[in-house]
Amino acid sequence: MTTMIHDLERISDERIHNVELVPVSKALRMNFGRVKVKGMICSLTRLFKMISGIKFYCDGCMKPTEINFPFPISNIRKNEAKCHYCNKNIENVNYYYVNTVVVELQDLESFNDLERLRVFLFDGDTENIRVGETVIIEGQILINESKNNGKKLFPYFYAELIQYDRSDSTALTQTDIGAINRFTKKHNSKIIDTLVSMFDPSIIGYEHVKKGLLLCAVNSSCDGNTRNSTNLRRERVHAFLIGEPGLAKSRLLKSVTKLVPNSKYESGGQNSSGKSLTAIVSKEQENYLLRLGPAPLSKNALCAVNEFGRMYYDDQTHFLDIMEEGEFTINKHGINAPIKSPTTIIASANPINNSAWAGVDKIDINEIPALKPIIDRFDLIFVFRNLKDEKVVREYAYKRSELETRKIPDYSNYIIKHIQYAKRFNPKISDEAKIMLNEFFIKIRIQHFGSNRILDTLFRLSKSIARLKLKQIVDEEDANEAMEFYNIVLQNFQSVISVSTSPKVIAYNTSILILKELNCSITFEDLVIKICEKNEQVRLYLNFENKSLKIHKNRKVRELYDMLVNHANIKRTNQKPTVLQWM
Ligand SMILES: [Zn+2]
Repeated sequence: MTTMIHDLERISDERIHNVELVPVSKALRMNFGRVKVKGMICSLTRLFKMISGIKFYCDGCMKPTEINFPFPISNIRKNEAKCHYCNKNIENVNYYYVNTVVVELQDLESFNDLERLRVFLFDGDTENIRVGETVIIEGQILINESKNNGKKLFPYFYAELIQYDRSDSTALTQTDIGAINRFTKKHNSKIIDTLVSMFDPSIIGYEHVKKGLLLCAVNSSCDGNTRNSTNLRRERVHAFLIGEPGLAKSRLLKSVTKLVPNSKYESGGQNSSGKSLTAIVSKEQENYLLRLGPAPLSKNALCAVNEFGRMYYDDQTHFLDIMEEGEFTINKHGINAPIKSPTTIIASANPINNSAWAGVDKIDINEIPALKPIIDRFDLIFVFRNLKDEKVVREYAYKRSELETRKIPDYSNYIIKHIQYAKRFNPKISDEAKIMLNEFFIKIRIQHFGSNRILDTLFRLSKSIARLKLKQIVDEEDANEAMEFYNIVLQNFQSVISVSTSPKVIAYNTSILILKELNCSITFEDLVIKICEKNEQVRLYLNFENKSLKIHKNRKVRELYDMLVNHANIKRTNQKPTVLQWM
């Protein structure tokens, strides 16, 4: 490839600050000029060399000549190496080289895969290129001939300044935040149900799926909010919608991607289009090129994949890493790159026999068309079945026909902002909620369902529930909601697990039981020891081993005491030490 306008001088530095910022789509339509372009790096080549200048000596007039090209070029044409003084063609030319990498920029919100701007990065800018990141690059547009595209002319962007951009382009205003707070306060504990009813009202039913997708959306960029010593904890919630064809699966997928900016929807049959969902290395213009697929390009957002079962084997292994670690590594044809991809995956698929479930009220994990370790990484699995119950079918029909006559409202603008604001919350899980979730998990595991990952899922769900409610603490109510919601997932595989009771309530009930049985007075301190001996959960909750059980030293013991003396039948018969008796 050769630069056609060599004499175009680079514009001096003082004008840099007045350069117009344009999207990729506009830059592609320019013929020349200096601009700033904002976009996401979606591909990069291996490092190669270009020629930034030449130097030669004319043996006719005995004079040296040095030429610096304002834009580096790939090769020298015959008439370029000419003596400036006598116009003689020179054979022996020395080259100055510059390190070069070509990247492609794509608009952030564009769904047009073909609108990519080729950018030359030189020397220092070729180091630590973070593919998949948003950048603002300043430089000049030039039209060049493409080598392997029938000598067609294309715009190229010569970078001079590259800045990685981490700013949030869709910032919330104070007015937005005020409105969200008021709306949430008004609907109080029903706020999630309200959001579910606002979620694409043109799709009838599937309230639990809509709720699940909202939980995925609100946790989609929250990895690393809680740090442990070694690595970032995954907070992303992945969901799998699986069921008989012709149901609302793909519509739900499309709708949820509209609720989180930068999300992508990929429709199935990837194998036939030869396109990778994660990343591929291909040979283009005699150089290897790493090109990112939609999964890493929608990091911190959602990547919805229709017909999930039909993807490449390479993609499947990359998905394992993306879903758990939020990063995968590509190592092919000399390109070795770790690619950050903290993306939330929402997948859909038909059952493995492609038309219907084998069982009527229960599915087998072998009917899900994906590798077992991948299935294990999905936090939520929703099963879709054709309606067969007359009452349910009638309800559907009546709701559907009602939609014909009225305008379907679109609340997505509010939901987008609500989710965006909710993401700022990083709720802590209270001790009570922790124990409830632990106990629920124990009951699931002793029935031999799933893997130990379910415990993480329960914690994630409870946090996303608290987030949507704009809460700082995951309390017993949120834990309860998480367990009941997870039971819907379990329903499709086996019987429902009974939801755990708050350890606070268990401690209280156990105390009452003991007081009743005793039928005489007991010091409060002895009572606490007795309930700890009687119930393992209470023992862990009150931290029997490591913490004082004295009222003024243990908040949980004090709470228990307050609850007990509030009971009409429990009397305090002595003050120091505190003695209680059932009357
Ligand atoms: Zn000469």
